[in-house]
Amino acid sequence: MEVTLSPLSPSQSKTFFKSLLELKEGERLRTCLQCGTCSGVCPFGYIMKFPPGKIIGALRAEIFDYVLKTDTVWMCISCNACTAFCPSNIPITEALMTRTKEELLLAGNVPTELQSALENTQRYGNPLGESPRKRADWTAGIQPEVNILGKTRQPVDVLWYVGDYASYHSRMKSATQALAKVLNALGVKFGILGPEEFSDGDSQRLAGERGLFEMMAQKNGQAFRKYKFNEIITTDPHAYNALKNGYPALGVEYPVKHYTQFLVERLEQLKPMLKKEIKAKVAYHDPCYLGRVNGVFDQPRDLLTAIPGVELVEMSHQRLNSLCCGGGGGGMWLDGFQWEKAHTRVSEWRVREAVTAGADILAVACPYEPPRFEDAAKNVPNAGTLKVREIAELLAESMSL
Ligand code: SF4
Ligand code: SF4
Repeated sequence: MEVTLSPLSPSQSKTFFKSLLELKEGERLRTCLQCGTCSGVCPFGYIMKFPPGKIIGALRAEIFDYVLKTDTVWMCISCNACTAFCPSNIPITEALMTRTKEELLLAGNVPTELQSALENTQRYGNPLGESPRKRADWTAGIQPEVNILGKTRQPVDVLWYVGDYASYHSRMKSATQALAKVLNALGVKFGILGPEEFSDGDSQRLAGERGLFEMMAQKNGQAFRKYKFNEIITTDPHAYNALKNGYPALGVEYPVKHYTQFLVERLEQLKPMLKKEIKAKVAYHDPCYLGRVNGVFDQPRDLLTAIPGVELVEMSHQRLNSLCCGGGGGGMWLDGFQWEKAHTRVSEWRVREAVTAGADILAVACPYEPPRFEDAAKNVPNAGTLKVREIAELLAESMSL
């Protein structure tokens, strides 16, 4: 959308800037050097009319109105790269981009596909618009049966918060079942909420819908309080981030681990079970909200290298400098909009990196990624033989489960 000059309202800019400064670490916005690093590391910085540094410039010049009139802020996929590399340590993703998206939502400047994911979350408790009653359908046929806490009311050691895509997405069903089998083989006493589980809400929050995030936290908190367990594990790094960093301030506080952290703690028990060789070069994709945001880099790699035959290879973007799959911060629900703007997908860039690294398998640890990368691989030359596998799937295969 073109920026059109119109009467400005400096007061609106001032009020918004003031609200940003009041956020945690928000005062750091004043220290922006206008160095452009944020635009440089941003996967879509080149296409944004207002990348982060320019938004700060617009706030200083009291022309924030211009930012609200463009829609390219929706190219932000909340990957946190700008925040990780800003020399002034400005919390750009949380304090600037997320708040700007909140203002865009208030101004009604929101792509339709995102709007429908938000409405689905409000209506059904998940962005896919699926029935809550079907949330545990993936458990059919697993032996021993998966403990759905509302049915059994048995105390467990571990509450497995499965999450939206791991519960419902057709591609993810095998990965979710694989993790259930691995947990069973390790003798973990776990249970799931099933129909009582709601979306974690973190991607909706990063897409500007904080109210929805708070509603989801409240509903999940009510469900957690009904059952006895010692800790929570998550399949999804976004859920992990919500439970670790967002829910405690809303009164929902439990010890939480991503499943890769949980399994690494049991590596001595796991290793003798990893008998079947998987002879392959494996590149691991660091999900933004597991790696860059929460510092979990080694555990997924430790699980992969424990599998006999696996040779770990690294892609050019890795660890702190990983490249987003494009699904975070509402990106999962903005594919059409972003394709229209950029005519490219970051998931395809990532697949190209895996091919360049000589990988046979692109290993992932986030339920957004298998469908995104498998779809991307169809459009990348020489990616025809690249397989995309969840780490849980590789473990289960090596354990012959
Ligand atoms: S990287 Fe940080 S200091 Fe540099 S322009 Fe962006 S916000 Fe400002
Ligand atoms: S969070 Fe990622 S996508 Fe959003 S502005 Fe920063 S670098 Fe760009």
